[in-house]
Amino acid sequence: MLIIQKYGGTSVGSIERIKGVAKRVAATKDAGHQVAVVVSAMSGETNRLLGLAKEVTSRPDERESDVLVSTGEQVSVALLAMALKDMGYPAFSMLGHQVQIETDSAFGRARIKNINADRLLSALRDGHIVVVAGFQGVDAEDNITTLGRGGSDTTAVALAAATRADVCEIYTDVDGVYSADPRICPHAKKLSRISHDEMLELASLGAKVLQIRSVEFAKRYQVPVHVRSSFSLDEGTWLVHEEPNMEDVIVSGVTSDLDQVKITVQHVPDRPGLAAKLFGPIAAENIVVDMIIQNASAEGYTDLTFTVPKGDAQKALATVGAAAPELGAKGVVSDTGVAKVSIVGLGMRSHAGVAARMFDALSREGINIQMISTSEIKISVVIDAKYTELAVRVLHDTFVTPVE
Ligand code: ADP
Ligand code: ASP
Ligand code: MG
Repeated sequence: MLIIQKYGGTSVGSIERIKGVAKRVAATKDAGHQVAVVVSAMSGETNRLLGLAKEVTSRPDERESDVLVSTGEQVSVALLAMALKDMGYPAFSMLGHQVQIETDSAFGRARIKNINADRLLSALRDGHIVVVAGFQGVDAEDNITTLGRGGSDTTAVALAAATRADVCEIYTDVDGVYSADPRICPHAKKLSRISHDEMLELASLGAKVLQIRSVEFAKRYQVPVHVRSSFSLDEGTWLVHEEPNMEDVIVSGVTSDLDQVKITVQHVPDRPGLAAKLFGPIAAENIVVDMIIQNASAEGYTDLTFTVPKGDAQKALATVGAAAPELGAKGVVSDTGVAKVSIVGLGMRSHAGVAARMFDALSREGINIQMISTSEIKISVVIDAKYTELAVRVLHDTFVTPVE
């Protein structure tokens, strides 16, 4: 078999752990498989590097920021390849540009356009173990790019697609995908399988166990992905295409996202074209607006509230602030103390009354709902951030493992 293994930051977080990973990779090789390994930076390293940049300037140049943060992965591939060679295995490291992971030029959040896996495949056929730096790519002008936080997952799944690997194993610090973040919810249970569509929703709504783009690749190129623990041999969670009985489960997962800022444009004259005038400039800045609500108009005036990711809040506030006078708005306020809590499940398509049960469960805990959005297989609410963990636990107990 051709196996792509990916080890996350915690799994390569110390020299001891890198040696442990080397043993696991060696065992896979000894079992007769071809193996390529994708690794992340050692845990904490990417944040440390981003911190250094912020010490130099409050707005680091995006190109240089990618040159900087990509070094984290360069360190771990070298150390892992050394450990493998020391054990007598023919291993070598490759950086993103050496593999030829071609991306667009959106520094810090680049998208993979193409992977030329020829050199990698021929090295594997020759019996080498290839250790590939996660997170990194190269654009058409030979600039180093990075794929966004958690991007090593995407490197691994994209590489598995490009090499037509038999399996892509994502080794992490939990033993699979759970019905809620096991660090928040003590009753969370490991899912043996999860559909691509549910995983896409969970990933985009805050469950950082897989980067959303890795799930998109898995779905599009039918890559068998197995999320499992680097510290045990237990089976983890398989990403699968939807299966017939999956709709029987109403809610597969509960998740939360603190990376949200709520912005309210106050007391604007309620006229046709208002929303277009407000959201046009925000879109032009490439800011993704998530939830939007417009209050019922009172005496011809209304409030418009929407959420954006924290990283875009400053830019969004500046843009809206500039548009506010023209719109006739009284003011613009923002609130960073909010969280989005969501329930996700294929069963919502065929079961009625799920939203009502969700709102009822939250109200019984005295949690006020500020905004709501729904899609076919998810319901999200914005609440006060201080109730995030309580909300996750209550919703989990309501829908996933009801307490007697
Ligand atoms: P890695 O460094 O291996 O890429 P991450 O920290 O990116 O690991 O992702 C793993 C973490 O995701 C876990 O430690 C866990 O706290 C968190 N997580 C959030 N939601 C979930 C979930 N539903 N199932 C499993 N893990 C989750
Ligand atoms: N090192 C990068 C990050 O911390 C990529 C990854 O770990 O997947 O986001
Ligand atoms: Mg990760």
